[in-house]
Amino acid sequence: MIDTPLLLSIHDWDARYDDLMARDLVEAGYGGRLSRHLDGGDYRLNQLLFDNSAASLRLWNFLLTEEARLAAARADGHTLVGAMKDLGTIPVMAYALPNVTAFYPDGAWWIPCVMELSAGLLSIADRMGIDESFCPVRAMLGAFVSEAHFPIPDLLICSVGATCDDFSAIAQRLQGLGYPILWWEAVHRRQADKGEDSVILPGGFAAPVAQVDFIQTELVRIKQALERQVGHLLSDEDLLKGISVANGVRCILQKLRFISFTAPMAPLPALELLIAEMLAIHYCSDQAESLVVLQDLYDLAKSRVDLGLGHGHIDDARIFWVNPVADLTAMNLLETCGGRICGTEYLFSHALDLIPEDLPPMEALARTALADPMIGSARQRAERITFDMQLFGAEGLIISKIPGASHCALESEVIRENIEESLGLPVIEIEVPPVCDALRSSLKTRIEALVETIKSRRK
Ligand code: SF4
Repeated sequence: MIDTPLLLSIHDWDARYDDLMARDLVEAGYGGRLSRHLDGGDYRLNQLLFDNSAASLRLWNFLLTEEARLAAARADGHTLVGAMKDLGTIPVMAYALPNVTAFYPDGAWWIPCVMELSAGLLSIADRMGIDESFCPVRAMLGAFVSEAHFPIPDLLICSVGATCDDFSAIAQRLQGLGYPILWWEAVHRRQADKGEDSVILPGGFAAPVAQVDFIQTELVRIKQALERQVGHLLSDEDLLKGISVANGVRCILQKLRFISFTAPMAPLPALELLIAEMLAIHYCSDQAESLVVLQDLYDLAKSRVDLGLGHGHIDDARIFWVNPVADLTAMNLLETCGGRICGTEYLFSHALDLIPEDLPPMEALARTALADPMIGSARQRAERITFDMQLFGAEGLIISKIPGASHCALESEVIRENIEESLGLPVIEIEVPPVCDALRSSLKTRIEALVETIKSRRK
């Protein structure tokens, strides 16, 4: 039975949980009331609105139990691999090996929001000289130093080179503090010279073959380090199987995104869709379970669409969102203002595109890594956003600038110009800090204005 979609507070969820349990809800081992996470200090949950489905309950419980899952993996003797910055490629390799759990320490990005600054991670980073002129990923530094959020990985791997200055500086500080890092270089993706061989990458960007070869050499170095750490060789056959599993996650997510962005009414809220997309990067430290969680969400979305159910109203403004928000409450705000999500680009579209399965696996991974939207020009990124906005029928764009992020200063202008010139659609830029309460009314006004503009253009 599919219930009417609603947004519930965490306390309303208690009654909803009792109702679902009375109807024999079967939960995963990490299941339980959402409100129990408040006891661990996740105070921001008090401010969020959650979808009322069992699939959403499972998603949130999966997300909010990742720290426990990592601790259990360590206790079970798994090799813990901390992948940093590449967002989506290294974990594919790592999970193809036995008894390996890979995760992104970068995910500490959201701890200041979820714990409403009570964990003190940003203050620790401040004391280390990584102040608010850096993006919220600086919370990762505090998480390493406090050792209160994830176990210190057995192997830390970080991409560097054509990545943002913020991450490079923070990871270098980490290394300086005594956490050894295995670096690999991500080159700046460029256009092929005249007469130079090039290939099309997953997602549609093109790159010279020489750059694919270079990244492949770097990834082979990482593969060998993983093999040494785990004491097990990673054959092409096993890696192809790993790629196939990763594509299973990407495939279900592609279906979920498409149905959610194009349905007449939004079958899932913007917030749950954001969390779902994140699973493609790091699997929340359990690759197999992330597939089940996403399948549940897709089945729910499909059922709601088939029944003509959804959140909000059929005339809600269809908005494409660029960049993740540091404060999750901003995603709820979109719906409060009469908008809905119709497309996203959260800095990691290369983690959503399918990895080629008809190529030697290391080359396939190299092409995937080179498709990272953040290692090419802002114009290329803007072109991909333009294409996806048309694909999903978006009527306007929100560029959510990340406080302190080095890339945000100039790219927003490039993206805005591209959308305004090529699609003639309205664009707003907002900035969302880890706790945005003080800015809430001005953010609301800006988003409402965009929604009004979109609706007035329909007449
Ligand atoms: S500056 Fe941007 S790309 Fe770099 S770590 Fe922060 S959010 Fe990620």
